[in-house]
Amino acid sequence: MALIDVQVPDIGDFKDVGVIEVLVKPGDTVRVEQSLITVESDKASMEIPSSAAGVVKELKVALGDKVSQGSVILTLEAAAGVSPSPQPSPIKGEGATPASAFTAAAISPSPLVGEGRGEGAPAPVAGSYTGPVDVECEVLVLGGGPGGYSAAFRSADLGLKTVIVERYATLGGVCLNVGCIPSKALLHVAAVMDEVAHLGDLGVEFGAPSVNIDKLRAHKEKVIGKLTGGLGAMAKMRKVPTMRGLGQFLDAHHLRVEETSGTAQEKTGSAKVVKFQYAIIAAGSQAVRLPFFPQDERIVDSTGALALKAVPKKMLIVGGGIIGLEMGTVYSTLGARLDVVEMMDGLMQGADRDLVKVWQKMNAKRFDNILLKTKTVGAEATPEGIKVQFEGLDGTKSEGVYDLVLQAVGRTPNGKKLGAEAAGVVVGERGFIPVDVQMRTNVPNIFAIGDIVGQPMLAHKAVHEAHVAAEVIAGTLKGDASLAKAQFDARVIPSVAYTDPEVAWVGLTEDQAKAQGIKVKKGLFPWTASGRAIANGRDEGFTKLLFDDSPEAHGHGRILGGGIVGTHAGDMIGEIALAIEMGADAVDIGKTIHPHPTLGESIGMAAEVAHGSCTDLPPQKK
Ligand code: FAD
Repeated sequence: MALIDVQVPDIGDFKDVGVIEVLVKPGDTVRVEQSLITVESDKASMEIPSSAAGVVKELKVALGDKVSQGSVILTLEAAAGVSPSPQPSPIKGEGATPASAFTAAAISPSPLVGEGRGEGAPAPVAGSYTGPVDVECEVLVLGGGPGGYSAAFRSADLGLKTVIVERYATLGGVCLNVGCIPSKALLHVAAVMDEVAHLGDLGVEFGAPSVNIDKLRAHKEKVIGKLTGGLGAMAKMRKVPTMRGLGQFLDAHHLRVEETSGTAQEKTGSAKVVKFQYAIIAAGSQAVRLPFFPQDERIVDSTGALALKAVPKKMLIVGGGIIGLEMGTVYSTLGARLDVVEMMDGLMQGADRDLVKVWQKMNAKRFDNILLKTKTVGAEATPEGIKVQFEGLDGTKSEGVYDLVLQAVGRTPNGKKLGAEAAGVVVGERGFIPVDVQMRTNVPNIFAIGDIVGQPMLAHKAVHEAHVAAEVIAGTLKGDASLAKAQFDARVIPSVAYTDPEVAWVGLTEDQAKAQGIKVKKGLFPWTASGRAIANGRDEGFTKLLFDDSPEAHGHGRILGGGIVGTHAGDMIGEIALAIEMGADAVDIGKTIHPHPTLGESIGMAAEVAHGSCTDLPPQKK
């Protein structure tokens, strides 16, 4: 029996990603493509599959380790006569971006369709429904979130008879109802409160704020209502009916919808069957719940935190990612003291440390404790609060008592809850649905988009995937070759933490460039030299651009990535994403006239710094 080293395969441009889960132990028998470890970078987490079958002899990685392509995960005693299968191949072509390559590798040990992504699991045998049908359509969209409504609206605009199935009363999914939008409504209020407090330093005093939490909650609900109501109206304008209910596949052309009512998912007892030519699965994800936390209303996920029932005195955030830190910002401005516990060695993983450092310095006052390289290992509900136990990766044990505990340790896809196997659709072990670059599953008439197909779980990624799926279907049905060729080929997907200051980044990060030995020229413009940032009294940030400095670029390298930390960073990062998509170099960006005085001007100036033509900073060393 041969001993084989199983290595981390090509995971796109991602390097030095942290191990957050070890899924096997010595002595375990593993099969080809069984997940071995989970690694995480910012919002993106992925499972690394085994390239061979056999028995685990020795683990070579532990929790918290950093791994890259080629790192040995474990030694395997391969089953007799079994040779390791080739390592997963990356997505090929121009669309192989850091983010999409990460997603692809996460779920793609072997291409599914063409160059697609797939978990390689055998396809289930589809059912065959012959019963009565209540509704017929060309395109059925399962799920009314940003992915679902965008797919449905695009498909209707392309002339297809489309139906949305959604279990809740309103369209908008997680993003509009319990995610992006309500969190930003509250973050806006927090930012204004912080800004007003800061005005004291400039000679303008407003006194201590008095917060009416019921009114604040009502404001958040009004924002949600306005947007979800708008979606409902747009669905009507497009003649896209929404069937309220829980959808379950019966076969590859039929979905049973059990009607739901009320604010939750109460079943009314009646059901309908929809017959479809094509389906787009957009059923999203839900928050991960740690198994050892007791059921207690003082322990919440992001949805519970957004409900804003009360402001705790002492709050614990479990997980130092973007969602946890955004919610922490809101609660801390409203008066809570914060602790945060994170298994990795820094908060806001995925962003360059220099960006995060600025945020952390400005926000240090919100936290009593920042516990890094620390696991949450137990919790009990006591009358005094939730008592939580921690264990450092070095074995140090500690505990704390909290009025509110927010679990923000990631989200898990809903793939296993749809009866997808009845349609013959492959669903991976963790619930992701593998798709190819056209968002097609292993079943030719069924597509999947959004959180359910992989990381990064972001609304803007879902919307773009939605348009691809709708266009491919419309192109196929209507014989329009250019639409039928649509692919998800974005080079980059931007990330934003809407904290104060905001942290935004896109494309290659400096940490990745270093880890991968990619030679880059950096243009960094400190906001201490930005007239607008100084006038705003917020000059702590900076704008950084990274250009290809390889010998082949001959000093005119294209932009590969960029990051901004400072107020409104999220509103500005789109320009850098566009520059990357367009293949711009430092001259293109620097010679684009940006209005003065604006924060956006700092992007042009960072390009000038890289080019050596910036006159808003002291002379640069030659
Ligand atoms: P979802 O929005 O999850 O929608 C799926 C829909 O399918 C749901 O409405 C669900 O009810 C429905 N559904 C599921 N199963 C069934 C079924 N069997 N039958 C009928 N209906 C079903 N992203 C950003 O880009 N920017 C942000 O600032 C941001 N902030 C966030 C803040 C928080 C607190 C959270 C939790 C998330 C945030 N996100 C953000 C992530 C974003 O919300 C998701 O990436 C996005 O909503 C995914 O869209 P989707 O269409 O794939 O799925």
